[in-house]
Amino acid sequence: MNSNLLNTASYINGKWLNGQGPAFQVNNPALGEEICTINGANENDTVSAVDAATAALPAWRAKTAKQRSAILRRWYELIMENEDELARIITAEQGKPLAEAKGEIAYGANYIEWFAEEAKRIYGDTIPGASSSSRIVVIKQGIGVVSAITPWNFPNAMITRKAAPALAAGCTFIVKAACETPLSALALAELGERAGIPAGVFNVVVGQEAEKIGAVLTTDPRIAKFSFTGSTEVGKKLLAQCATTVKKTSMELGGNAPFIVFDDANVDEAVKGAVISKFRNAGQTCVCTNRIFVQQGIYNAFVEKLSNAVSQLKLGNGMDNGVDVGPMINKDAIKSVQSLVDDAISDGAQVNMGGGLSKLGELYFEPTVLVNVTPSMNVATEEIFGPVAPIIKFNTEEEAVALANNTDAGLACYIYTRDIGRVWRVSEALEYGMVGINEGIISNEMAPFGGVKQSGIGREGSKYGLDDYLEIKYLCMGGLDG
Ligand code: NAP
Repeated sequence: MNSNLLNTASYINGKWLNGQGPAFQVNNPALGEEICTINGANENDTVSAVDAATAALPAWRAKTAKQRSAILRRWYELIMENEDELARIITAEQGKPLAEAKGEIAYGANYIEWFAEEAKRIYGDTIPGASSSSRIVVIKQGIGVVSAITPWNFPNAMITRKAAPALAAGCTFIVKAACETPLSALALAELGERAGIPAGVFNVVVGQEAEKIGAVLTTDPRIAKFSFTGSTEVGKKLLAQCATTVKKTSMELGGNAPFIVFDDANVDEAVKGAVISKFRNAGQTCVCTNRIFVQQGIYNAFVEKLSNAVSQLKLGNGMDNGVDVGPMINKDAIKSVQSLVDDAISDGAQVNMGGGLSKLGELYFEPTVLVNVTPSMNVATEEIFGPVAPIIKFNTEEEAVALANNTDAGLACYIYTRDIGRVWRVSEALEYGMVGINEGIISNEMAPFGGVKQSGIGREGSKYGLDDYLEIKYLCMGGLDG
């Protein structure tokens, strides 16, 4: 691959580091070909990154909010100037269609733009004191060194959603990028350097020894905060590791999104929303629809229209024009989705569309629609993370809410109805961090993204997103009577 944003080693303390860990390949899932070999980092290199972030903290923190804001703004502009090239890197290493990859670049950059602005609005508070001679003042300060671990499904945006508020708040930052998609992370570092981010403020560790690198990032006492996006299973482990030094944590974990279509919904709109929320990124997003609940009265119409819409989706290499669904990330992902579909079929589900591998190659799973699904099947209880839409019939509003809430996950959910009373009743009853109401795409930098229950802790984006990177300090001002 030809790109002046292509780097193959970790970026630590403003330098491209010759890592001490094993080298590893980055592959293009659409073609099954190697893109390049990465010079992997190990835990010693990760300690060097913590050294660098610790050393860089005082000067970065001492800059005015306006100075930090100007650097972030320049980073945002450079990302948007290089939008096409960055999108091609995402499609090459991750597989999503180019138009979606471009969407991710703009989406990810928007967080940097947003927090460049919010950097200047970290306000404190004054509170009437306990006596006439005292006043209470509250200030907010950046928490310190922040570490993060991110997944492969949004290799750009999952980093900017964390780095932007951290840098805006005056924190320094180290991220371990996912092994499948290190190139997007390293391209961000390249542009960050060009934007004037000082050495040590933004560090990217790429290495295959996730457990050892993760151990440093979750236990080094110099790190004040750890932010993770990834699976619930790994998140729980890292959360426990963070407990040893009582770090502040943000956890963006897995989902099991219900998509509820009531009898009074606009069926065409519901189908449009279901297709986009289920099949983008080949079903590999944490907010992807996982279970589609359709009320009895419109069940047949919905199934027919959804199957029609899914039959129009073009599967293929994301670099090609007109492709809607790209390959899955790797063979394990294919295996896991195939086994959920096979289990469902053996438990009585019927395949309306798709159901297995396409002739295009070993990482291409056909967009699939399953009917006669029951809530207890694995395909409904587990996060599918693939292009499979299981449809479940329901009768009453109460039943739909109970089924939707019957999971440990609580990230995104979706409801389609034109009844305003039902919109409020159901939205308030659903145990989720985000509710799409007649909307299948809900994430943007202005809104607080995050989950409840075992889907996570904390919020990313919006005016609330900075709080995860700030500490509140109470100043008790006494002796004011003179
Ligand atoms: P994953 O297996 O949990 O991996 C995520 C990151 O954790 C990768 O960088 C991985 O490194 C690293 N990792 C894995 N095991 C580790 C360990 N023992 N110690 C330290 N680091 C470790 O998740 P994934 O398969 O990449 O991503 C899919 C999951 O992420 C899904 O469950 C999805 O719902 C969730 N997700 C959540 C959100 C959200 O905002 N809530 C957004 C996107 C994705 P390697 O790459 O080197 O293995």
